[in-house]
Amino acid sequence: MIGLMLQLGDNAVIDYLLIALMILFVFIFTFTSRSQKSKRMMVKKPIIKTELICIECGFKEIRDFKEGDYIARETEETCKRCGGKMKINLIYALEEKKEKKRIL
Ligand SMILES: [Zn+2]
Repeated sequence: MIGLMLQLGDNAVIDYLLIALMILFVFIFTFTSRSQKSKRMMVKKPIIKTELICIECGFKEIRDFKEGDYIARETEETCKRCGGKMKINLIYALEEKKEKKRIL
């Protein structure tokens, strides 16, 4: 799915469509994880996120981690603000816990 996004990333109209699809995907994911709560409790999978930063303007974007990602690597993704190249700034894991929402 991410590979498809990269190929279509040049078209601004499709960009909006993809954002809408991503939001939809998050909704579906949230819904299924709620309905399968008891099953999910047994298999804890950390969610790995990749933070991209624009080389040109410093705009940051977070997306799901994908294979081959490593810090400081230049990606094929382009900046939503200036169209510049994005590189990987940070890779981190989120645990599926309610504690995630707590701010310390
Ligand atoms: Zn930029």
